[in-house]
Amino acid sequence: MKYTYNELIDFAVEAGRKSYSPYSQFRVGAALLTASGNVFTGCNIENRSYSPTVCAERVAIFKAVSESESDIIALAVVGLDCDYPLPPCGVCRQVLSEFSKNAVVIMAGRDTSVFKTATISDLLPFDALDDLKV
Ligand SMILES: [Zn+2]
Repeated sequence: MKYTYNELIDFAVEAGRKSYSPYSQFRVGAALLTASGNVFTGCNIENRSYSPTVCAERVAIFKAVSESESDIIALAVVGLDCDYPLPPCGVCRQVLSEFSKNAVVIMAGRDTSVFKTATISDLLPFDALDDLKV
């Protein structure tokens, strides 16, 4: 990988500082590494109407895909105001699985020295028909 997990976490923290989260006060940043070696970042963006709110991970994924970079190698997500390594929500797991089954998801919280990793297949099992064949 062009970047270490810790470097991706640092990118995610930087992105999370741009979070627009006046309602939850819960800042999240994401940094996505594509096969070409580019990093796309995102932050959560809330809305007073709630449902238009979008997670940091999806902002990063959509930025990458909209730049024709859908071969996702890794995605770091950091909850800047979270006391534990923050996992992606179900919607973001679904969106990530659209583009990669093997991407490494790196999860961290306020203390970025403690992080967990998992593949999207770990986080979203039985996602495809192939998984369900008997
Ligand atoms: Zn999400």
